[in-house]
Amino acid sequence: MDTSEPAPVLPRLFRGGLVFDGERFRAGVDLRTDAAGRVAEVGPGLRPAADEVVVDLDGRWLLPGLVDCHVHFREPGLERKEGYDTGSRGALHGGVTTVCEIQNNPPLLTSVALLEAKFAQVGPKSRVDFACYGSLVEEALPHLGDLAGRVPAVKCFLGCSTGAGGVDDPATLRRWFAAAAAAGLPIVAHCEDNAVMQRAAAELSGIDAERHDLRRPVEAEVESVRTAIAAAAEVGARLHVFHVSTDDAMSLVAEARAAGLPVTASTAPHYLSWTADDAAAMPQHRLKVNPSIKSARHRDGLARRVERGEFVAIGTDHAPHPLTEKTRDYAHAPSGFPSVDLLLPLVFDVHDRRGVPLEPLLASVTSGPVDEFGLRGKGRLVAGADADLVVVSPHCERLVDEAALPSRSKWSPYHGRRLRGFPERVFLRGREVFRDGAFPGAPTGRPVPIVPAAERVAE
Ligand SMILES: [Zn+2]
Repeated sequence: MDTSEPAPVLPRLFRGGLVFDGERFRAGVDLRTDAAGRVAEVGPGLRPAADEVVVDLDGRWLLPGLVDCHVHFREPGLERKEGYDTGSRGALHGGVTTVCEIQNNPPLLTSVALLEAKFAQVGPKSRVDFACYGSLVEEALPHLGDLAGRVPAVKCFLGCSTGAGGVDDPATLRRWFAAAAAAGLPIVAHCEDNAVMQRAAAELSGIDAERHDLRRPVEAEVESVRTAIAAAAEVGARLHVFHVSTDDAMSLVAEARAAGLPVTASTAPHYLSWTADDAAAMPQHRLKVNPSIKSARHRDGLARRVERGEFVAIGTDHAPHPLTEKTRDYAHAPSGFPSVDLLLPLVFDVHDRRGVPLEPLLASVTSGPVDEFGLRGKGRLVAGADADLVVVSPHCERLVDEAALPSRSKWSPYHGRRLRGFPERVFLRGREVFRDGAFPGAPTGRPVPIVPAAERVAE
């Protein structure tokens, strides 16, 4: 671990750039941060104070530190795959200053004692602020009341994926959802229906047997989202569907919202970027991921829904694995891939390739997840907010070099893609924590205070 001192918190005046405040761009404004690591003032023509460091942005953009609402850092338990030291370095490289992390390897996060033990272990290593979802599994039920207000939500697997803790029995699902609702905890869900997937797999043969999108078909997500929404409605639970991969499942979410139900959703950059044919052609099972990547119809339909603001968030589902595991045969290659290192460039890439305007895209990685998951002080550049900042030259391009990415895996399905908008400087609560690929100072990440669900911004 880095034994140097944390970087100093200096009062700074950022001027001469274009500010995105978490919801929209604001031309002609400057931003001042204070010695407490907060945003002090945002407005036109701010004059430097005597003790301030002036940062001339020279046309660069100034954004709130990004929030990745879906990462797996696998600590404790599987540090050989990632851990908070490398994971948080990867996050900063992607412009991310806050991660919402899911413990999906044992020990699952089922009590406040486990949460505190995790914070004690990862806090000293983390270079970004963090929140951790609880695990909605049987062992957690007696502890949900204590977890409320400490975690953004509790995570439920409908169906099964790489991690532990899946459920596919309807009565159990209703009981777990009811327990979360009674504790005032929102539910975040991975939705793929086991029965649909088993039927689909039984019908496959030959070359199709290794088509991940046919084994985990559109109907698996649609059916599972239908089940989750029905269960949540029945017991009065608040539901967020993670990483929606199909336009059809998102139709169900939109219908539920139109009917007044507290149902929201996020998607991931890869569902806006690739198709199932791309995934099948990619060597080493690099794009094998759950939910599977679907057809161009879904990719493009999801992009239009991002544009219309139907998703409250985009999260990477950063899922680190060594490439030596991904190169196993299809059945034994784990699902998922690293991507937190590239979140901001991927946002620009979705804009460039899919024509989605930048404001809804950037909101979905700043104010959107902050409001949804109750991350106090994050995601907006307004007076009083944490001075989590990203400085970026939006037109500066680079080829992705997987070996140079800071997270542990050292491979990426985006290797060789030309991307733009790599962060130049990143600040966490007023400290410069990333500059041109380097990580000055000792880690200073800490848990984000959580706004209780009942007090979060209404839809
Ligand atoms: Zn995940």
